[in-house]
Amino acid sequence: MIRENVKRLLRELPEGVTLLAAAKERSAEEISEAIRAGITIIGENYVQEALGVYKEVEEKAQWHFIGHLQTNKVKKAVGIFDVIESLDSLRLAKEIEKCCERQNKIMPVLIEVNSGEEDQKTGVAPKDVGQLIREISSLSHLKIMGLMTMGPRFGDPEGSRPYFARTRELFEHFKDLGLPTVEMRYLSMGMTNSYKVAIEEGANLVRIGTKIFGEREGSYN
Ligand SMILES: *Cc1c(COP(=O)(O)O)cnc(C)c1O
Repeated sequence: MIRENVKRLLRELPEGVTLLAAAKERSAEEISEAIRAGITIIGENYVQEALGVYKEVEEKAQWHFIGHLQTNKVKKAVGIFDVIESLDSLRLAKEIEKCCERQNKIMPVLIEVNSGEEDQKTGVAPKDVGQLIREISSLSHLKIMGLMTMGPRFGDPEGSRPYFARTRELFEHFKDLGLPTVEMRYLSMGMTNSYKVAIEEGANLVRIGTKIFGEREGSYN
């Protein structure tokens, strides 16, 4: 099942769009199967959960952190993740800087944009993205490599379109600025129900869980 789902998605995605398998709640065996079928990036939302599966998955892949990162989990996160896609505060950036310096690593990060400006959501408000980028650009162990957004949830994926379009505008804006320490390469948007719209709006990294692994049984999503 997982194998066929991955193959079908990889065939379907346009060139230049990378598929990330969002693997929260999934077992090491499920993740391994996805990688053997051609997945190159695994996304995890919880550091503790990721630590458990990470050491059991023998197949090679990049691991991206895509959840809300608490500062007290940064040290462990820096130990296993290749990219942190959900950076949304200077405080968190400074903690990543500190841990990366100690572990002698440079961490690629994406800025998470709260494109719907929802109160309860993580991510930086669109108007504050520039300031955060400027503040982070002085931290030598972080490398800003793009933007990520979730956007508000809609039954109809067309509802997401304006939020994806807005994030893409920001992405192009900062790309055009050509800041010396910023390399705007990844625009991470779109999930199972919205990835087609996200790609139309410029996403080059889509984060898909359900359509690869099936419905999640747990209560969180
Ligand atoms: C769970 C999750 C996804 C994938 O969601 P699906 O609807 O299962 O495809 C993508 N991004 C983030 C941040 C997630 O938490």
